[in-house]
Amino acid sequence: MNKRIIPFVACLSFAISFTVISAQTGEPKQAPKRIAVKAGRLIDTKTGAVTNNAVIMIEGDKITAAGPDVAVPAEVEVIDLKDKTVMPGLIDCHTHMTSQPGNYYEDIFRKSPIDVAVTAHVYARRTLEAGFTTVRDVGAGEFIDVALRNAINRGDVVGPRMQVATLTVGATGGHGDTNGFSPYLKFGGFSGLADGVDEIRKLIRFEVKYGADLIKMLATAGVLSEEESVGAPQFSQEEMNAIVDEAKMWGKRVAAHAHGAEGIKRAVRAGVTSIEHGSLIDDEGIKMMKERGTYLVADIYNDDYILAEFAKLGYPEKIIEKERMVGRTQRENFRKAAKAGVKLAFGTDAGVYPHGWNAKQFAHMVKWGLTPTQAIQAATISAADLLGWNDKVGVIAPGAFADIIAVDGDPLNDVTELERVKFVMKGGVVYKAAK
Ligand SMILES: [Zn+2]
Repeated sequence: MNKRIIPFVACLSFAISFTVISAQTGEPKQAPKRIAVKAGRLIDTKTGAVTNNAVIMIEGDKITAAGPDVAVPAEVEVIDLKDKTVMPGLIDCHTHMTSQPGNYYEDIFRKSPIDVAVTAHVYARRTLEAGFTTVRDVGAGEFIDVALRNAINRGDVVGPRMQVATLTVGATGGHGDTNGFSPYLKFGGFSGLADGVDEIRKLIRFEVKYGADLIKMLATAGVLSEEESVGAPQFSQEEMNAIVDEAKMWGKRVAAHAHGAEGIKRAVRAGVTSIEHGSLIDDEGIKMMKERGTYLVADIYNDDYILAEFAKLGYPEKIIEKERMVGRTQRENFRKAAKAGVKLAFGTDAGVYPHGWNAKQFAHMVKWGLTPTQAIQAATISAADLLGWNDKVGVIAPGAFADIIAVDGDPLNDVTELERVKFVMKGGVVYKAAK
């Protein structure tokens, strides 16, 4: 969606188990805290198998052991989740932590990036408390996403692990531009607009310089913006190739916002890692994505929210018409792509609808063709693979971050259990304690 963002300061306290004296400095040095989590049922996200009465051993921010035969040493803290189903923290690969649905014109004309910056931390906490311990944030203004990510990493703010894309890379007059207004109306701030190979390369260098973890390209027109046809490509093949080539040179992956069939194919051909939305994909596009292993990140819940709330959200009629046109087709095409074996990762476009509602999309993924296990894998192991964080997040295994959630029931039977997460740990620190 669009272009604004946020940081801030909350406090979190790290519990410390005991203290040792450093031989080198004589200063007290904190030994990593050790915790044992007792899980009634533990989901293995790689296989979908469930182990009863498992133990997860944690030291500092990492998992050191997990399984049914892991002994619990006498001196460690025990967290009792014996009446719960335990699994790795969830991953949302398409968020905008710096936006929240408000009113279209109010947001454009009455809010500044500072408004965005002072509220983003609220959404970050909400997302974490909903069980999403990692997000890939795909587009924010003014590098607020970088500031938020850094504040979370320092421990100043509570929120998920973040990969951030900074400014969306788009064409003049395209989805990332502010369209439909007087040419005399100008907004300040950093621009993510670039036309032609040279401008594109320069913009990507600028984004990487100031903290981008990945690059977000706007390959086609969008829904929640006033430019014309929702599916039209907005970069030439040459421009898309340059985006991916330049990003690759800096070690960055590219996510392509793409609704229309031709733009999707150009982006896949250019070598993007993921297609976001994918609404109007055709059979050839599905085949290309499967062959190349390109991920589809389809936000198949948020139309429900937008269409139900559109009066309040204040979108122009043109945008609502686009939304009506695209919503159902996108879901049918999601089912087709899933059936064809395209790689899927979970991404919701949270920010277009309220943060913390991320898990509502699981039920839609099941409705449109996935098993609950596949939907969970999209938000764990597959998402981790898309982020390049395999074995660090999305699994409960030795060496992975101690990012752990728990629910009361069995999400493999009823995936809506994930909408009611009762326990959240990130990096060995409990952010929501089970009652
Ligand atoms: Zn988006």
